[in-house]
Amino acid sequence: MAKTEKKARGKRAQPKGPALQFGGKWAYAPAPESTDVVTLRERYDLFVGGSFVRPKSRRWFPTVNPATGHSLAEVAYANAADVDLAVQAAKKALPGWRKLSGDDRARYLFRIARILLERAREFAVLETMDNGKPIKETRDVDVPLAAQHFFHHAGWADKLELLFPGAAAGQKPEPVGVVGQIIPWNFPLLMAAWKVAPALAGGNTVVLKPAETSPLTALLLCEVFQQAELPPGVVNVITGDGATGKALVEHPGLDKVAFTGSTEVGKQIQAAVAGRKVDLTLELGGKAAHLVFEDAALDQAVEGVVRGIFFNQGHVCCAGSRLLVQESVHDTFVQKLQRRMARIRVGDPLDKNTDMGAIHSQAQLARIQELVQAGVDEGAELFQPACSLPRHGYWFAPTMFTGVTQSHRISREEIFGPVLSVSTFRTPDEAVQKANDTSYGLSAGIWTDKGARILWVAERMRAGVVWNNTFNRFDAASPFGGFKESGFGREGGRQGMRAYVRMPGALLPG
Ligand code: NAD
Repeated sequence: MAKTEKKARGKRAQPKGPALQFGGKWAYAPAPESTDVVTLRERYDLFVGGSFVRPKSRRWFPTVNPATGHSLAEVAYANAADVDLAVQAAKKALPGWRKLSGDDRARYLFRIARILLERAREFAVLETMDNGKPIKETRDVDVPLAAQHFFHHAGWADKLELLFPGAAAGQKPEPVGVVGQIIPWNFPLLMAAWKVAPALAGGNTVVLKPAETSPLTALLLCEVFQQAELPPGVVNVITGDGATGKALVEHPGLDKVAFTGSTEVGKQIQAAVAGRKVDLTLELGGKAAHLVFEDAALDQAVEGVVRGIFFNQGHVCCAGSRLLVQESVHDTFVQKLQRRMARIRVGDPLDKNTDMGAIHSQAQLARIQELVQAGVDEGAELFQPACSLPRHGYWFAPTMFTGVTQSHRISREEIFGPVLSVSTFRTPDEAVQKANDTSYGLSAGIWTDKGARILWVAERMRAGVVWNNTFNRFDAASPFGGFKESGFGREGGRQGMRAYVRMPGALLPG
């Protein structure tokens, strides 16, 4: 094994040591890190021009395993000079990449997708260690969906003229150019795939910046690009914090910025590109309403609500964080939910039986705690099932508030954690009015037995995605994106490709 690499080994994590009192609950000493699937390097460099290169900044920073609070590895910090090198590499690669036939670009995308699946276990384990999410989610959702995005967009690469027939006669849809892409920490590999796959299919080149607290799978993806022999510079990955992202957004060499993250940072980015000839798409926060009508199959709806808010510890932009239940079934539904919440297994994310893993970071835990305290202070009623939380790392029990009003902070602000707020409605009109009473507009869910009601409610919902009798289902062919302060632009499907091509001579602006 190379001197700079360490193999993370150990037994399957078991609670061990004496039980300790923590936050009013019984807890256990930390679980050992446990995998022989992943080889961790001590240090990760930047990926620029097809190779891993030391940062000009000569700085590295730690990335932490949220389940233990321990550092996993050090990651290069990209300063403005490093950002510049990455943009120059993407610029240099652009003429060659855009000149390739769609068919040839598709071959690279297929290759990337296949290698990703071949290395699925490695990606799943590394994502779980770096992010804190349960292995059954990285294994069954994040990695397969990431591969699906490369497969799906490979299919578009040679069909752009069919997809966008609006260009003037004899002209083809063209790539936008060099794209700066910035992603958050909640689905690190999946967000990288959502961004990179359509960009490459459209003939663009990329500088990608993953979040500072979960950069490892984007860096492992660079190894896949090397394995697939993607031409150097077509994708560059730079790691760093908000200042790195800001330097990327402000770089004059970009033709487009694609950002996924908080509404607050999205607004800063919108201001930074204003007045420049730079395309922009923003995928921002959410505060989804999840509506349960009295005629719904209540047991199925309980499962949907649990998936809607506790999947990925609630670190989900489209999480169903506001549950609106028809008054006549409120008490029954809440009792069912409480019983179901008591069966959620919280603990070692590498254990395949775990339902809810670690909160992603100390900062995120502090935000969740602050908003939960606000819920209590404002008079909502708190419910948490008795559950054992590990002593080290960052943890929070599944949480539900009842008696929540529209004015409570927990009902208005994105908590981005495993916290559900419940309120009631009497009529469909009132349900729609309450659901839309938010500054966000990313997603919503409806549970009812009546097809006509689904259609009536769905068409009144100001949300980019409306799930019916299900929740948190994703597909590469299905466009995803928001209204209002949840951003603009779509990712996935035909609409997602539109953001990565320009239409010369088209009547409508390209
Ligand atoms: P964040 O906005 O703090 O950070 C996102 C990314 O932006 C990170 O890579 C960060 O380093 C970078 N960044 C920070 N400041 C920057 C600046 N001034 N200029 C450029 N880049 C900057 O968000 P987060 O905490 O990582 O992620 C959580 C947020 O992301 C939530 O609000 C969630 O709803 C949202 N999100 C949205 C979607 C979607 O598709 N709509 C998907 C996932 C997450």
